[in-house]
Amino acid sequence: MSMLVPTPSGIALQLQQEQLILDGRGDLVFISHAHSDHSSGAKKSKRLISSTETIDLMHSRNYADSQAMQKKLVSTADFNYELLDAGHVLGSKQLHISNGFSFTYTGDFKTKDSLTNKGAEIRQADTLLMECTYGLPYYKFPDPTEVYAEMEKWVDLQLKEGSSIIIGGYALGKAQEVIKILNDYCDVTPIVSSEIFKISDVYLKHGINLKFINETSDEAKQLLKKQFVAVVPHHFANYGYAGRLSEFYGMPVRSAVATGWALGNRYAVDKAFCISDHCDFPDLMEFVEQVAPERIITTHGYEKEFARELTKRGYDAQPLGNLKPKKQKLLLQY
Ligand SMILES: [Zn+2]
Repeated sequence: MSMLVPTPSGIALQLQQEQLILDGRGDLVFISHAHSDHSSGAKKSKRLISSTETIDLMHSRNYADSQAMQKKLVSTADFNYELLDAGHVLGSKQLHISNGFSFTYTGDFKTKDSLTNKGAEIRQADTLLMECTYGLPYYKFPDPTEVYAEMEKWVDLQLKEGSSIIIGGYALGKAQEVIKILNDYCDVTPIVSSEIFKISDVYLKHGINLKFINETSDEAKQLLKKQFVAVVPHHFANYGYAGRLSEFYGMPVRSAVATGWALGNRYAVDKAFCISDHCDFPDLMEFVEQVAPERIITTHGYEKEFARELTKRGYDAQPLGNLKPKKQKLLLQY
């Protein structure tokens, strides 16, 4: 028998004697990937199920010491489980349990390949706990190759006109995809902020070929005096920061962001590129069809709206927020 319960320390899955916490903290915890909203409980947990890439990334972000984390990593438990690629950022995994029943927790995931990650693996599961950040029909992302071409054209034009460029994205995941686009499509080796440098170094260590220059290096200092393309954390990419750089270095500086939220939102930048490391709505629906679950629980983002859409299409679906601990008897039972 098993029950799925949201607790203050994460989502708990009761498996015989063992309670497994998903992306929270406790005795035995699964950490799906190294974004802070999923991995902040790792340090205070006793035993961990995660990937070595995620451990290295948490270390690079100062969330946890990698040697201490490696010691907490377990490879077996009282139940059968497998880690499946989630396709979201380096090392991101889904947890698939098969113990007389089958259950998959996706964490954040993306089914399509990106330039830096292979798309999520798909495995049939009786119960599916899935994120649905972009769980509204409105969210249909453009073809990524068109967006890469758009970035190539925009970067080319700015450089020809004598401007320097800053492009913002989340330091883990998006920044590395932007570096890869700049390398492969624009033939540019960008300067990166120290935070992005440390994370990108972990990508390199795990075989993702990226070319980038640390902002503190002599090479960067020379480029900053002439003309540069820089990849910066998302919150730095705006007119205000570009203006300050422009004044300081005495050259025009254009700004851009790369985010899935560029669809339907305006940003204070010269250009917004719609690039996401999540599924869009059609990808989410296709994923559900392929996993073919008997029961779906939605979490993150539009969990209520997406559960409603699934119900309309004949699935047994409900948002995680509806599963209150006091209603445990109504929760998952096998
Ligand atoms: Zn994430």
